[in-house]
Amino acid sequence: MEIEVLEKDDKNMRLLIRGVNVPFINALRRIVITEVPCMAIDEVVMIENSSILQDEIIAHRLGLIPLKTDLDSYNLPEECPCKSEFGCNLCRVTLTLDVESKEGTRTVYSGEFKSENPDIMPVSNKIPIIKLAKEQKLRLEAYIRLGKGKNHAKWQPVSMCTYKYLPKIEVSSKRCDACGKCVEICPRKVLAKTENRIEVRDLMACTLCQDCVTVCPQNPKAIEVGWEEDAFIFSLESTGALPSERILSEATKILDKQLKEFESQIKVKKSEES
Ligand code: SF4
Ligand code: SF4
Ligand SMILES: [Zn+2]
Repeated sequence: MEIEVLEKDDKNMRLLIRGVNVPFINALRRIVITEVPCMAIDEVVMIENSSILQDEIIAHRLGLIPLKTDLDSYNLPEECPCKSEFGCNLCRVTLTLDVESKEGTRTVYSGEFKSENPDIMPVSNKIPIIKLAKEQKLRLEAYIRLGKGKNHAKWQPVSMCTYKYLPKIEVSSKRCDACGKCVEICPRKVLAKTENRIEVRDLMACTLCQDCVTVCPQNPKAIEVGWEEDAFIFSLESTGALPSERILSEATKILDKQLKEFESQIKVKKSEES
């Protein structure tokens, strides 16, 4: 396997991965979405709510706020030695919200939470939660837990994780008369006309839509668009819960663990049969 980093920052990562197949790359994608844990609000105790929204709607909104996650200091509730349904300091973080509109209408934002661990807070202070009219109050306690996307979408550490085949574009110098129609129609500006030639300017941007092939007046076509069978562009975008690189490294650890478990199951089965 060969990996080339096309783009990487705290939130986004784009890799060119060669030498793998669809089952592998899709397994990695699914693990990123469903198995890499992150933190989310899991339970809310409403102490006072005189807003116009029901408790359940507010609780649902709170659950979907992405939170900065600390995977090294906290346990998944099912793996925590406390074995308590209420949790302990190693598997639960408490947030409190105590807001009131004293004058006119005001919006309550995610930055107004107080956390028992200042490192575990919403990824942005500017996520609107609710509007309060004059004299309306909202007081609540929210319990954050680690969880996995396979149990609820609020525990997905990514807002997007996709892969696509690496495109392969060939222009026949014999058949192409450089009419430029393929350049004009391409929605992603992949192709460019230089002197009397068509060249591929931005291969990665190609969506394999085939519009350039359809528009080509030559018969047979002077341009061919296909894809490499074993090379993929893998992209992920973190919600901000974890750095993009950490999400991918956790996913590879989980994949490795699952494969080892699978291997040991096969060995058990074989020894039972023999
Ligand atoms: S397949 Fe679509 S995106 Fe790719 S080069 Fe042709 S027109 Fe552009
Ligand atoms: S449309 Fe066909 S003939 Fe015209 S420039 Fe493109 S590849 Fe060449
Ligand atoms: Zn615990």
